[in-house]
Amino acid sequence: MRSSPITPTVDFDADGEQHGFLKLPHSHDASAWGAVMIPITVIRRGEGPTVLLTGGNHGDEYEGPIVLSELAATLRARDVSGRVIVVPFMNYPAFRAGSRTSPIDRGNLNRSFPGRADGSVTEKIADYFQRHLLPLADYVLDLHAGGRTLDFVPFAAIHVLPDAAQQARCEAAMLAFGAPYSMRMLEMDSVGLFDTAAEEAGKVFVSTELGGGGTATVASIGIARRGVHGLLAHARVLAAPMLHGDTARSTVLLDMPDGRCYTTSEHDGLLELCKDLGDAVDCGDLIARVHDATRTGVPPIAYRAHRSGLLAARHFPGLVKMGDTIAVVADIVADGVATAPP
Ligand SMILES: [Zn+2]
Repeated sequence: MRSSPITPTVDFDADGEQHGFLKLPHSHDASAWGAVMIPITVIRRGEGPTVLLTGGNHGDEYEGPIVLSELAATLRARDVSGRVIVVPFMNYPAFRAGSRTSPIDRGNLNRSFPGRADGSVTEKIADYFQRHLLPLADYVLDLHAGGRTLDFVPFAAIHVLPDAAQQARCEAAMLAFGAPYSMRMLEMDSVGLFDTAAEEAGKVFVSTELGGGGTATVASIGIARRGVHGLLAHARVLAAPMLHGDTARSTVLLDMPDGRCYTTSEHDGLLELCKDLGDAVDCGDLIARVHDATRTGVPPIAYRAHRSGLLAARHFPGLVKMGDTIAVVADIVADGVATAPP
């Protein structure tokens, strides 16, 4: 198999704190022998588990980049048993452009796994994670949010997996993250996901959706910060969370069992959500109205919930197009579920 064109400027086996780059050659008009330089931090002390922490898989989601930049600058090797690999901006070209996909090749990194060593820039990044970083990891936390077009109640998530023991390990890690909501997802679109790559490699994998709208808030950053420390403590890479006492004590366990969770727009127009994120929804409830954006005097189209539960996600912009996901209603499995003590 062709070797990856990416070379790391860090030594994954060295003790201490190293800040460097994954260097990906990229020849283009402005730089004939240029490179995409993806920042990476490796913090290691002795033997122990490896936790791979990633943000910026999509370039317009900001809790991961903020909290992982902070962690990379502040975590010391003396506080670690094992290894922490931090990549705050996985799809670095997309992150710098503030867009979900890469401006170089329009690649959606989270639909590009397992990637290709001889593919596009985005496929080369996926291939490096697939063949070089995932094999190093025991735990993988990939921090997402809704980006510019979606907004979510803040949750950590795992997938329903064929291996029940692996799923249980993922669930324990999800509870250790301690988000206000914890989601078990039956993935409808799993091909190409980093999630799927990590899960198929047998890793303990947790992802998140921590808000959205193309920005981050004090609340969503706090949830991400506490979650990262909670997961590092759960993996026993940190002796104890460096932040004290404010991990959520309980979480609402949610489930997205099938396609009836999703409401998809069949019209272009002006979107009026009739429920807010976190609101209870009964099957048949009016969930949104789409107003005709081209004329007056036309009644809006009503969209009703296909199932009961809680409004977990919504389209963020005020205008909606045919095919956009307007809303996601998740099942409430249990309220007040204890998060794992660190
Ligand atoms: Zn994302």
